[in-house]
Amino acid sequence: MVLMNLLKDNFGRKFPYIRLSISDVCNFKCGYCLPNGYQKNKGDNRKFLSLDEIERLAKGLSELGVSKIRLTGGEPTIRKDFFEILKILKKKSGIKKTVVTTNGYKLDQIAEKLVESEIDGINISIDSLNKEAFKKITGHDRLLEILKGIEELQKLNFKNIKINAVLLNGINANEKSFNEWANFIKSNEITLRYIELMQTGDSIDYFKKYHISSKVFTNYLNENNWIFQTHGKDSGPSKNYINPNYKGKFGLIAPYSKDFCKSCNRLRITARGDLRLCLFGNTGINIRHLIQRDDQLEELKDLILKQLKFKKESHYLELGETGLTDNLSQTGG
Ligand code: SAM
Ligand code: SF4
Repeated sequence: MVLMNLLKDNFGRKFPYIRLSISDVCNFKCGYCLPNGYQKNKGDNRKFLSLDEIERLAKGLSELGVSKIRLTGGEPTIRKDFFEILKILKKKSGIKKTVVTTNGYKLDQIAEKLVESEIDGINISIDSLNKEAFKKITGHDRLLEILKGIEELQKLNFKNIKINAVLLNGINANEKSFNEWANFIKSNEITLRYIELMQTGDSIDYFKKYHISSKVFTNYLNENNWIFQTHGKDSGPSKNYINPNYKGKFGLIAPYSKDFCKSCNRLRITARGDLRLCLFGNTGINIRHLIQRDDQLEELKDLILKQLKFKKESHYLELGETGLTDNLSQTGG
């Protein structure tokens, strides 16, 4: 049965894709996200969504035409029941594609189990291939283990691997770093995507110090014969570039670019069951009370459909708007 995508907003955008945070907790201290590490929110003692809640939620979403769920966080692989969550999504939810975003801290240990779980893709965050720079950004000296984890995945013939790096002025936004990644993807069938640093409520000073326009990277791509790969209407905000001499691709996610929000195809759900219509912005409601029993499915779907009408046209990031988002560990980036 082909499910219609019922999730459409007032601007004609469709939402086949959900980013589901399963935990706010993270063991890294990325300067742009959790510079002081994870701090428990003392004003909110709600637990993270349970397995039963996730199963009901995913079923409801799949009936609304959602075909892809990305598990994110915080660090999603920190959850003890992470593989049980994957199993539910893959086997019991009706969702066609399950993908994961991770800092990869134990990728070398879990690569085999990940492949066995039949996930459809993985995004790994590596801001620099330089050990020292990596440590400076994340607060952890784990670059080599993460790279080993990627090798393990490749040995197991796992294909859909992407690496995300946040573009940081004075750290990795230079020709040397771009060339290091180019060498890496020359023989590796991996997409390396730079993300332009975004300002969040917690990172105003960090943003002032390290933000740089993504043009620095597009200039590099143009000067080095990378060709923009046109993509479909619903394929999301990453612009990809190919080069016949390279097995991998480069990509760029430039949230401050004009028309960025026109290709928005995703909604977000936090680890405590708040629906967020945008990574930024002030709109979000709790939907958790409607995933407590199986007979609430219709009510859940109805509420999500109604909420979508409140989705705004843009994130208004360029106006310094950060909305409810203190840092991206809450909404999964
Ligand atoms: N812990 C996992 C990880 O780091 O991949 C998943 C959650 S993390 C919030 C998801 C993505 O958001 C990462 O690729 C991270 O680099 C990115 N991110 C976090 N804060 C950001 C910011 N202020 N600007 C741009 N990207 C950011
Ligand atoms: Fe943790 Fe990911 Fe945030 Fe880094 S970006 S602190 S790994 S949640």
